[in-house]
Amino acid sequence: GETGLEAARAELRRLFGFDDFRGVQPQVLARVLAGQSTLAVMPTGAGKSLTYQLPATMLPGTCVVVSPLIALMHDQLRAARANGIEAATLTSVDSDWRETIDRFRAGALDLLYVAPERASQPGFRDLLGSAPLALFAVDEAHCVSEWGHDFRPDYRQLRGLMDAFPQVPRLALTATADAHTRADILDQLGIPRDGLVLAGFDRPNIRYAMRHRDNPVRQIAALMAEEPGPGIVYAPTRRKVEDLAGKLALATGRPVRPYHAGLESGVRADNQAAFVASEDMVIVATVAFGMGIDKPDVRFVAHAGIPKSIEGYYQETGRAGRDGDPARAVMFWGAGDFATARQRLAEIDEARRAGERARLDALAGLVETAGCRRAVLLRHFGEDPPPACGNCDNCLAPPRVTDATETARKLLSA
Ligand code: ADP
Ligand code: MG
Repeated sequence: GETGLEAARAELRRLFGFDDFRGVQPQVLARVLAGQSTLAVMPTGAGKSLTYQLPATMLPGTCVVVSPLIALMHDQLRAARANGIEAATLTSVDSDWRETIDRFRAGALDLLYVAPERASQPGFRDLLGSAPLALFAVDEAHCVSEWGHDFRPDYRQLRGLMDAFPQVPRLALTATADAHTRADILDQLGIPRDGLVLAGFDRPNIRYAMRHRDNPVRQIAALMAEEPGPGIVYAPTRRKVEDLAGKLALATGRPVRPYHAGLESGVRADNQAAFVASEDMVIVATVAFGMGIDKPDVRFVAHAGIPKSIEGYYQETGRAGRDGDPARAVMFWGAGDFATARQRLAEIDEARRAGERARLDALAGLVETAGCRRAVLLRHFGEDPPPACGNCDNCLAPPRVTDATETARKLLSA
């Protein structure tokens, strides 16, 4: 209730130095502090971590955090420790297991980060039984759903683990889940139907636009000429990343660097750090870039090909304009992109195919629409937006109907 929230606000100031909560943080915290299991769907950057980190310091016992990526866990660990929170990770790359286990057993840990693979290990269940638990926090909870965009079979084992501790509340967190995926997460993690807290997804300062791709170097260089601030260009393959980065640097004279999983990790870290510090750099990247990066002043995100899904589109464009100042998201697409993506659907296993197809079709719908892009995007995430936002290409310059029909024809024939 209110008293729990007041205490949480005091803790927010003391530990993090923030003045107040943002968005739905108070709703989520009130539920968690009252011991109610919850699914919080909040956009990237909305501040999901605080909703388990604060209860972890306030409630007796340890909060067990399940997170899918070791790199992300270590980022979180550093940040938590910097804020004076007692935190540790138990992952395959940690060498301080003995110490972590001792601290956990002594009740000295606020947060214990683990990968989902731990859940199916009997020894881990025994360990959790050896000290009081405050909360189970399941980050990137869409991974539990085959309907979600990043299914991870190990997430299915979490239910069994958490059921062994029925008195411990559960908090599932995700940035991207449509209605179908949300219902699935609630079922799979044993969270009651009324435990859903859904944040607003609108990013009003981002101007959305979609253009047919003819000459991506010329088109993106033109965008860069209009936007002198930092930008991210997403390209579909490593080879295209390298190619575009080189050509854009030549064409514009701006600092441009590549980022993809094939680069040596030192180079990757270097390019990322340079981008975060820069006021005019453009990074050309595969989807490997962006998770866990907290750069508020990204002025544009361009796509030189289509993302995997409408969720991917929202997440990638959402890296623009975190500071609230005007920012742009411009996608340069080709009909062949959709044809290739549809072919790829045939290769994935059948259980996931329906979900992937629906997400790709939703993206095609967003490209095809002659109406407001934002309205289509927000409706996909379960919101009921006004019919026109005034800040997307279609609202600013309504397309002639013949153009829209032509676009649709190209997509459907693909
Ligand atoms: P998410 O996991 O939802 O993408 P994070 O938890 O990583 O977001 O938080 C994103 C950023 O917002 C972090 O830098 C965090 O410190 C900051 N933040 C979170 N809550 C608040 C708040 N109430 N006031 C100010 N900054 C906040
Ligand atoms: Mg997060």
